[in-house]
Amino acid sequence: MSNSFKEYYIDPYKKELKAQIVDIKENKIYLDKTIFYPEGGGQPGDRGYINGYKVVDTQKDNGKIAHFINEPFDLKIGDSVIQKLDWTHRYSYMKMHTAQHLISGILHSSFNVATVSVHQGSQYLSIEIADNSFSKENCYKVEDISNDKIIESLDVSYLEMSKEEAQKLDLRRSIKVDGLIRVVKINNADLIACGGLHVKNTSEIKRVMFCGVEKIRKHFRLLFKVGESAIEEVRKYDSIIKELCTLHSAKVETLVECEKNYIEKNLEVEKQLRSLKKENANLVLNSIIKENNQNVIFSDISDYNIDFKDIDLNVDKAIFLYRREDEILKWYVYLGNSYKNYDFKDLRVKVLSLIEGKGGGKFPSFQGKGVYKNIENCEKAFLGYFNER
Ligand SMILES: [Zn+2]
Repeated sequence: MSNSFKEYYIDPYKKELKAQIVDIKENKIYLDKTIFYPEGGGQPGDRGYINGYKVVDTQKDNGKIAHFINEPFDLKIGDSVIQKLDWTHRYSYMKMHTAQHLISGILHSSFNVATVSVHQGSQYLSIEIADNSFSKENCYKVEDISNDKIIESLDVSYLEMSKEEAQKLDLRRSIKVDGLIRVVKINNADLIACGGLHVKNTSEIKRVMFCGVEKIRKHFRLLFKVGESAIEEVRKYDSIIKELCTLHSAKVETLVECEKNYIEKNLEVEKQLRSLKKENANLVLNSIIKENNQNVIFSDISDYNIDFKDIDLNVDKAIFLYRREDEILKWYVYLGNSYKNYDFKDLRVKVLSLIEGKGGGKFPSFQGKGVYKNIENCEKAFLGYFNER
């Protein structure tokens, strides 16, 4: 099949077109001509509508183009239909893809760095380069040169020729396909065989912004924002920084220093709080132990704000503490020196099983969760377990 049914090549700006259904397979529709670009070259497949039914993806399918509709549809072969593109989606990827040409062209001509692979994601345009030492300064230079070429309003044009003819040109990358070759030319910026969709003029890209580097295998992957998303990114960070400045009553220049001081103070306060909580826990427990005046103690500490991890007892007693949280019971068992030889597994069977207790620990303290039930039986069992010996 020739390329004549690929209307997106004839006019990439066409947003609506009448066509006829030539085939239907399950959720895939095939048309005699289409404005829907199928996924390829790092660019996602188009979305939109066919007679109002949502096209969620477009994919190449053995020389044909499949439009995916994931809802029940009332269409049959031979029907005349109206196709409508999700133009916002398509146009943003046309800009992103053309920006990728500019960036890869600059990497090639000004830095002698080859592009290995590209991905046009919903967040970033990522370009994997055959280099793992490309500096940040150079990334910013690439950004600046790209933006200069956007301002220069360079035309994007196409040349169709045989593979032999194309191979005579100084293309950025060798040709991987056979047949008629479509060469994309951006004046003084890029010359390469490409089957993707591009904007007519670089000014449509508006701007590119370098956002960072990721390491991938033995290469670098450079991340960029393109067009409106670059502007949104700058505005997003600007508003975050201004909010932080207000919160800290600081100027931008001192914001990092302020934040470091804040974190440091916060750590100090947390340390003091932890120490106070420990002190409080042990004061409360020592008073419970004193009041109880027994060697084996079973006590509800639900009314006290005590964290088990703050408990640091040093008494020769067997103590069972619990805290009720709705239907859940959190338990803590402490065994002083005289109880060192008791087998916790046995205690688990005879006492903790009554509250479906789970958990563990090591001498002298054990803790876990259970269910709030049978608490009186559990108390009897615990007191009995130690008092009878
Ligand atoms: Zn292209």
